[in-house]
Amino acid sequence: MKDPQPALPVVYELTWPQWLFSSLSITAALGLLGWLAWRVMAIEIAQWWVPVALVAGLCAADAASGLVHWAADTWGRDDCPVIGPRLLVPFRVHHVNPDDFLRRRFAETNGEAAFLAVPLLAALVAMPLDGAAAKVAAVFGLGFCGLGAFTNQIHQWAHMPEPPAPVRALQTCGLLLGHAEHSAHHARPYDRRYCITTGWCNAPLDAIGFFRRLETGITWLTGVAPRPDDRRYETRYGVSARRIESGRA
Ligand SMILES: [Zn+2]
Ligand SMILES: [Zn+2]
Repeated sequence: MKDPQPALPVVYELTWPQWLFSSLSITAALGLLGWLAWRVMAIEIAQWWVPVALVAGLCAADAASGLVHWAADTWGRDDCPVIGPRLLVPFRVHHVNPDDFLRRRFAETNGEAAFLAVPLLAALVAMPLDGAAAKVAAVFGLGFCGLGAFTNQIHQWAHMPEPPAPVRALQTCGLLLGHAEHSAHHARPYDRRYCITTGWCNAPLDAIGFFRRLETGITWLTGVAPRPDDRRYETRYGVSARRIESGRA
């Protein structure tokens, strides 16, 4: 008789203090984003550089999401101090059990990215807007933090079979990451299409082999091969056998 397969892993539930902390981080990020948007509106926004700086901020948020996602998928072990349980385990679980992500509620999904955005937003709100460079930085920062703080929400929407209608409209016109674009990342060995906000940077970064080149350099410097922990999870939970059984290999 075949050995029973282990149950697929799930991401931990937040404790009450963690849930409160996440909720406060999200509230602070939303408040600061609103404040920054209000300051930007006070700039004379009918100028050619305003949409350029905003789109550059959106592109930078997408590229940053790809870089963080790639780093977390590729390096480290789930038992690393501090970042292992909080950062790396959710990434490992997401590859072997992507449906678990849909179970996570708003505060669980968005607390960590919102927390990281708060100091940057606070600096942008406190910065005097009395020079051209500061104004460009404020508009760029609005695009960067507006998307970046809610990267995980956008990622979760890309997994939903039926996202809210306005989100689906934004996905359809390519302003937010869509299901098909993100599905390409979930094909084993999960080594492409890392960007998860707009997805705009995926095609150019994959075309130039950006992440493979980074991996080659890091392996050359450290002797560490990419994705050993991800493969360990696949083996532990029999992912390839499950996919063959379910016809999703
Ligand atoms: Zn991944
Ligand atoms: Zn995903």
